[in-house]
Amino acid sequence: MSIHALSLHPADPAFRPPPDFADQLRLLDFLGDEFDYFGDVRFRPGTSFFDLIRFERTHNVIELKPSADGLTELPPQGSRNFVQIELSSSDETGVTCGCNIRDPLCPVCANPLGDWGDLIGAWHDTNAQSNCPDCGHGCTIPNLNWQHVAGFARYWITIQQIYEGEAAPTDQFLDLLAGATGCEWRYLWCHL
Ligand SMILES: [Zn+2]
Repeated sequence: MSIHALSLHPADPAFRPPPDFADQLRLLDFLGDEFDYFGDVRFRPGTSFFDLIRFERTHNVIELKPSADGLTELPPQGSRNFVQIELSSSDETGVTCGCNIRDPLCPVCANPLGDWGDLIGAWHDTNAQSNCPDCGHGCTIPNLNWQHVAGFARYWITIQQIYEGEAAPTDQFLDLLAGATGCEWRYLWCHL
């Protein structure tokens, strides 16, 4: 089964939100009920979720339900009904990207800066700085314009069942996250 997700993460690759961050997301009604997903904790969307994440479109999901005769195919339903949210963190900064990754652009002049795999390798090996040959702008590799298809972080809010471009956080939600944590937030779409 393929995975299509929208992930939000702090812009500072080393940043981790305070321990009560999940409670704050609950207070914003972003997170709804918690449930067990094969041993992991996941959340249903809260009552404000669809105000904080704006959907441009959805796709149809066909659910297969186990029954006495094997798997029964249910009628197609809009993917908004299948949204699940997962919070995760790690000790080390990692990269999230999927098979939809593209080469990054200069954040100032949008000049293509080379192969994404070489750049992630350079970040991993030496934390190298990238310098744009066109406009001369220099920045860290996580701060390049990754076109919302890759991100570098230690903390992730991952929303399952969202295809690339289908939905994105509103500016209001990004501001709320920044206010709650003192750190700017970014997002990406990942297809695995
Ligand atoms: Zn440039």
